[in-house]
Amino acid sequence: MRTVQARSDRVVVVGAGFAGLAAALHLAGRGREVTVVERESWPGGRAGRVDVDGYRLDTGPTVLTMPDIIDETFAAVGETASARVDLLEVDPAYRAQFADGSSLDVHSDADRMATAIRDFAGAEQAAGYRQLRDWLTRLYRIEFDGFIARNFDSPLSMLNPQLARLAAIGGFRKWEAMVRRHISDPRLRRVFTFQSLYAGVAPQQALAVYAVIAYMDTVSGVLFPRGGIRALPDALAAAATDAGVRFHYGATVTGLERAGNRVTAVHTDSDQRITCDAVVLTSELPQTYALLGREPRRIGALRPAPSAVVVHIGRPSRPSANRPLAHHNIVFGGAWDQTFADIIRDGRLMRDPSLLVTRPTAGDPSLAPAGHDLFYVLAPAPNLSRGVLDWSRIGDAYTERLLDVVAARLIPGLREGAKVLHVVDPADWARQGMIAGTPFALAHTFAQTGPFRPANVVRGADNAVLAGSSTVPGVGVPTALISGRLAADRITGIVEESRRTVVSGAGRP
Ligand SMILES: Cc1cc2nc3c(=O)[nH]c(=O)nc-3n(C[C@H](O)[C@H](O)[C@H](O)COP(=O)(O)OP(=O)(O)OC[C@H]3O[C@@H](n4cnc5c(N)ncnc54)[C@H](O)[C@@H]3O)c2cc1C
Repeated sequence: MRTVQARSDRVVVVGAGFAGLAAALHLAGRGREVTVVERESWPGGRAGRVDVDGYRLDTGPTVLTMPDIIDETFAAVGETASARVDLLEVDPAYRAQFADGSSLDVHSDADRMATAIRDFAGAEQAAGYRQLRDWLTRLYRIEFDGFIARNFDSPLSMLNPQLARLAAIGGFRKWEAMVRRHISDPRLRRVFTFQSLYAGVAPQQALAVYAVIAYMDTVSGVLFPRGGIRALPDALAAAATDAGVRFHYGATVTGLERAGNRVTAVHTDSDQRITCDAVVLTSELPQTYALLGREPRRIGALRPAPSAVVVHIGRPSRPSANRPLAHHNIVFGGAWDQTFADIIRDGRLMRDPSLLVTRPTAGDPSLAPAGHDLFYVLAPAPNLSRGVLDWSRIGDAYTERLLDVVAARLIPGLREGAKVLHVVDPADWARQGMIAGTPFALAHTFAQTGPFRPANVVRGADNAVLAGSSTVPGVGVPTALISGRLAADRITGIVEESRRTVVSGAGRP
C-alpha cells in the first residue's frame, strides 16, 4: 500500500464530518498532532442540524447502521461508544408499507424476522429469507476485508483471493436476480433490494456486490443516538478533543501552501496559517481538486448519485388507533419499478412517490416540544445533472404533494395541526456546494467503486490524502467512518488497533 513518505507528525484534517472525525481519531490514537478545520460552527457535516420552534431536526442521515464501525472509531483513542453516546436499538429497524395496504416490520433478529415473514407471506418465504440472510452475511464477510475496508493502489489490487470467492457466490450477477433466487414475493423482494437506490442503480441492473447495503440495513442492526443523529458527531468530536485534537470551527480552508509536491500549510478565511506535515481533505471532490490545483481527467465523466427532497414536519402527537408509527417507514409506491427510471434515467419527479418517513421522536421524544411529534420525509429526486426541474417554481407544490401521499398511505390526518418546519431540495444541496445538487456524492456504479472510484491519493500531491463520501469506500455514515481510517492508514501505514473491525472467516457461511 502506498503511504505518505517522510515525517507526518502534524496533520491538518479539512472538515469535521464523519470522515474527518474518524481520520482525526485514528491519527490522534497513533500519536499524531492533529488539527481539524471546519467551516461550520459544529461537527457532523452532512449530518446537519437545524433547530426550529423547539424542534431539533437532523437534516442528513437518519438510518445509522454498523455499530462495530462506530465502536472501532471510538476505540482508536481507547474510548468506547457507550461511554460517550446512548445508542438505542431501533426495532423494528424499518416498517415497509406497501401500496396494497399491507405492511411488514423488518427486524434484524433472524428468528423474529422469519416469524414476521411467515405471518406476512407464508412459511416458504420465511425459509427463503433465512437462505437470503445467510447469503448476505457471506457476501458481507467476503467484501468487508477484501474490498470495503481497504486501500487500493490500482485495479490490480482487486485480484485477491476474495475476488474468486465473491464471483463464486454470485457477487457479479444482478442484485435483483440473486434475491429472487430465495424470495418470490415481489413485496418482500423490495425490502432487500430498495437499497440499490442508495447506490444510484436499479436493482435489476445493479451488481449483487451492492446487496451488501441490504446486509447493513436488515442484518447488522439499526441504531439511533439519544439526542438525535447530531449526538454522534458531537460525541466523536468530544472524544477527539480529549485525545488532544484541536478544532477550529467557523474557518473555511481557502488554500494550501506547497513546497514542490508537498503541502506545508493550510490557509483559512480567517487568516490562519496552520503548518503541517500531511493533510486529509474531506471536502466535496471538485473543491478538493481545486484546493490541490488539479483537474483530473475524469471529473467531467463522473456520475453523481440521485438526489433527494427532505421535508421536516412537526405536529401535535395523536394517540394512534392501532400500533404507533415506527421510527423508520418505507412507503413503497405502486409504481416502484418505475421510480428508478423516473429519477435516474429520465430526470423527472417520481410519478408514484416512494418515500422514507422517519419519526425521530419515536426514539427520543425530547426532539419535539412536549406533546408533539417530528417527522422527516425523504423523497428520492433527480440530481441537477439529470433533471431540468426548476425547484424554485415547483418546490412548494411538490412539498404539498408529498404531504398528501404521506397522509393517504401512512399517517391519516397528518395535516391536522401540521407545520412544515424546513425543506431542502436539490437546488439547496447545490447551494451548499454539493456536486450536481446531490448530497449522496458519486453513484456506486461499477466504474465508481473500489479501485475505480476516485482514489484517496492524488498524483502530484505526496502528502495529501482524501477521505469522505466521494472517495473510497463511498457514501454513508459507516463508509465515511471507514474512509477516515483508510486515510489515516495512508499517512501512518496500517496499524493494528485493538478494536479493528476485521470480519474473520471470510468465505465461510
Ligand atoms: C439527506 C441525507 C440523508 C442521508 N441518509 C443517510 C442514512 O440514512 N444513512 C447513512 O449511512 N448515510 C446517509 N446519508 C449520507 C451520509 O450522511 C454521508 O455519506 C456522510 O455523512 C458523509 O460524510 P463526509 O465526512 O464524507 O462528508 P461531510 O459530512 O460533507 O463532511 C465534510 C465536512 O467538510 C467541511 N468542509 C468542506 N469544505 C471545507 C473547507 N474548505 N474548509 C473547512 N471545512 C470544509 C464541511 O462543512 C463538512 O462539515 C445521508 C445524507 C443526507 C444529506
